[in-house]
Amino acid sequence: MKKHILGEFSIDRIVESEGAFAALQWIIPQITKDDIDANADWLKPLFVDGANNAMMSFHSYVLRTRRHTILIDTCVGNDKPRPNRPSWHLQNYDYLQAMARIGVHPDEIDFVCCTHLHADHVGWNTQLVNQQWVPTFAKAKYVFSQTEYSHWEHAHRSAIATNQPVPNHGSFADSILPVVDAGQAVMVADDFEFEEGVYLQAARGHTPGNCILHAHSQGAHGVFSGDILHTPAQLINLSWPSHFCHDAQASEASRKAMVHSLADTSSLLFAAHFPSPVAGRIVSHKDQFRFQGLTS
Ligand SMILES: [Zn+2]
Repeated sequence: MKKHILGEFSIDRIVESEGAFAALQWIIPQITKDDIDANADWLKPLFVDGANNAMMSFHSYVLRTRRHTILIDTCVGNDKPRPNRPSWHLQNYDYLQAMARIGVHPDEIDFVCCTHLHADHVGWNTQLVNQQWVPTFAKAKYVFSQTEYSHWEHAHRSAIATNQPVPNHGSFADSILPVVDAGQAVMVADDFEFEEGVYLQAARGHTPGNCILHAHSQGAHGVFSGDILHTPAQLINLSWPSHFCHDAQASEASRKAMVHSLADTSSLLFAAHFPSPVAGRIVSHKDQFRFQGLTS
């Protein structure tokens, strides 16, 4: 995705990794091989490869307004111990170099916005310096939904108290708590407004406090949808949750509300894991929806 202009705003993508991630039928347990075959004309090869793996990207968006530079979702991160997910374990991505290539220094980030607190959305919140996890973005406020934070804080502390494995691969300890300890976390209501036209909206289900972020400028509109849709293949049947959804029914309601509001409009979707061309529009097609990526 090249820099995208949305009214007075600009949007860049920082790619951490991109490619075949896992079997589509693992990501979306309810999709059948017949479903994939029936939609191969638009799913393949961009969104699903020849072996029916989901093509996915792990990336952040940088939304620049006149007033603020906002980093949306922070991927997996470097040096994070994730032994149960080998592809995320002790990584050494060139994420900060990629940020430099779009002309952004970490100290220029005003807000970090995590749509939810799964391990692949919080990783660059911190980095390892002298064996300590410290906030990567020294001058940023890190905006967390209070609902989301409270859920995972309770889950994390309960797991420790009962000697159970901690949730989310341990990311609460290495990617959230150091930000809180540094005084940079801001727990917000689910309709938090960063500035006029840039605000959160609750979209429950994928996680208990999952949010999406809207950006409006000069009549243009984009939605940073996190994991409401993991892959465009979920548009075939909006009732299909992903493997990772906390509450399938709530996630279905959130997915339907968002997709119906965007379909056949000029609004752009910026999902957290869609592969190149990444940004695009949702269009209705017969009795389902499809994703049309922007070509530039
Ligand atoms: Zn994710």
